[in-house]
Amino acid sequence: MGFSEFLGNEAMVAALRGALRAERVPHAMLFTGPRGVGKFTLARMFAQAANCERLKDDFCGECATCQRIGQLADLDDLIARGLAERGESADAATVERVPLILQSHPDVWVMVPDPVRLKSPVARPVLRIGQLRAVQRAAYFQPMGRRRVFILDGVETMRADVSNVFLKILEEPPGSATLILTAPSPFNLLPTILSRCMQFHFAPLPQAEVENILKAKGTLKSGEVKLAAQLSEGSPGLASEMNVQAVVERRQAILRILEHAARGQGFSQLFAATNQLAKDRESPYEDLLADFYGLLSDLLELNAGLKSPQLRNPHLAKELQALARSVSSNWVMRAISGIDELASGARRNLNRQLGMDALAASLSPTPGASPLPR
Ligand SMILES: [Zn+2]
Repeated sequence: MGFSEFLGNEAMVAALRGALRAERVPHAMLFTGPRGVGKFTLARMFAQAANCERLKDDFCGECATCQRIGQLADLDDLIARGLAERGESADAATVERVPLILQSHPDVWVMVPDPVRLKSPVARPVLRIGQLRAVQRAAYFQPMGRRRVFILDGVETMRADVSNVFLKILEEPPGSATLILTAPSPFNLLPTILSRCMQFHFAPLPQAEVENILKAKGTLKSGEVKLAAQLSEGSPGLASEMNVQAVVERRQAILRILEHAARGQGFSQLFAATNQLAKDRESPYEDLLADFYGLLSDLLELNAGLKSPQLRNPHLAKELQALARSVSSNWVMRAISGIDELASGARRNLNRQLGMDALAASLSPTPGASPLPR
């Protein structure tokens, strides 16, 4: 047990352990990196090490404190309990008054984007002001153990006006608490937040390492291990939970849309394809957009004529090569900025189907325009 169980990003683990050993722990840290790469896991391990009853710069995993904090490894259960306690049909006011706080030990507080399904428009999960106010109130209490740790997962979901509450805590950090923020990347966070946090960027793991982790876990069929490792782009967490077949099908569907659009096969066919995709309630919209980006980056690489391009979708290499021959890099860039627009529309809860239709239509050759090079 201990930090040795954390795989990849060794330098970061060493830095955290060094800080604990020297008793110079930062008051606010920002962990960025792709989903499933281990940001939350390392934050939880840090909380254990900061409070372990036996060790100072590591955690034993056996003392009562380690065990209680260790329960955070399975958040689903805590989330389900939290939502049940608040009641099934919570309204917006109740959601703020009874913020979703996940706790298995009095000194460690976890906040995740609240998955409550408020009515129209269906709100996507965000960190709510009630959650941040709860952190603000709790941060100044003395810890029962050595250090209070507040983990705020997914801070990119925080609205800009809400983050002002948060800045107050970052400006006058309590001495015996550490805030750990996680986000996919630092780029969509306010500079005022970035400048007050020590930043740690998690690199994706090499494919072979992900494969080894998957084999050790044994949750995937052996035939799927290699493909899952490829498709997860270096995130073992993402790979081990992946429904490989579903991801493969989703990416094929997106590729079909791009093919239809590029060849101008008519809007009805195109919109039937986008409709199919927009109905896919299993996959979060962010995943769909990420898949679009992944396929378009592959097209760009192929278009650039690199000798041995490192495709994100090697299983679709043949189809991608064919498509790359029929579109210009200009077209690909236009598609990428179209996806950027969809992504910003998603943050404002715009209708997915309309957004995708508009994008697909904009990529089709219009009458009178010069045909795309084949
Ligand atoms: Zn311990």
